[in-house]
Amino acid sequence: MGNERVFRVVFLGPPGAGKGTQARLLEEGIGACRLSTGDILRQAVEEQTPLGKEAADYLHQGQLVPDEMMLKLIGERLSQADCRSSFILDGFPRTVAQADGLERILKELGSELDFVLCLRVPNETIIQRLAGRRTCKGCGAVHHVAFSPPARAGRCDGCGGELYQREDDREEKIAARLSVYETQTTPLAEYYRKRGLLREIDGSGNIEQVRSRAFQALGANAA
Ligand code: ADP
Ligand code: ADP
Ligand code: ZN
Repeated sequence: MGNERVFRVVFLGPPGAGKGTQARLLEEGIGACRLSTGDILRQAVEEQTPLGKEAADYLHQGQLVPDEMMLKLIGERLSQADCRSSFILDGFPRTVAQADGLERILKELGSELDFVLCLRVPNETIIQRLAGRRTCKGCGAVHHVAFSPPARAGRCDGCGGELYQREDDREEKIAARLSVYETQTTPLAEYYRKRGLLREIDGSGNIEQVRSRAFQALGANAA
């Protein structure tokens, strides 16, 4: 897109709100580095790296991985060249301690956040979106059985990889994740509102409607 503006953005919102979907669209639109901590952790689990071995149980239970592990991971990635100017954080921070840590990391890098975009979505919608989500084994992209079906059944439109249902998207795990979000992550809206960074949008409606609201809230040029 050749857009020279710097965007340092956090996507906030409950599981299934559409953060990953919108973060990918923004990444394509502005060419910023996108860091999805969920994608990074799932890949580490799949590859059985030391990080993956430590994180696996938390992911399976729908609990948060400890803050120190997350801050180490994010600190390393944000200091790499590709994320030094613009970045999009999807799924991080999720606790006040992570938000404080992020502020410290960015300060050390001479950087700061521009926006925190919070997607507001009613609980019934979240449950429908999570229950039908299918994730690509190859590239982490998501489809939805009803709302964003792949052209070829069971195959990712982007890379042709196999689509699967995440263990933690099974119905019996969803309530636990929503309650983790409620207790540990919702305080971040207030945290960022106080800092004047919060932009809240309605995350209901179809993907294109949400995209258009998100781009408008961020002042990103619609692609
Ligand atoms: P969703 O897309 O449903 O919001 P994610 O893919 O972002 O879920 O995260 C999946 C899981 O990865 C979480 O339930 C948690 O176990 C772990 N995780 C991801 N990001 C973080 C984080 N910032 N802090 C702690 N745990 C995390
Ligand atoms: P999050 O990253 O917040 O957990 P995702 O972006 O993975 O959420 O979206 C959750 C599910 O809902 C996916 O299956 C995705 O295809 C679908 N989805 C995302 N945005 C919308 C939307 N606006 N309308 C309908 N379905 C959506
Ligand atoms: Zn794919």
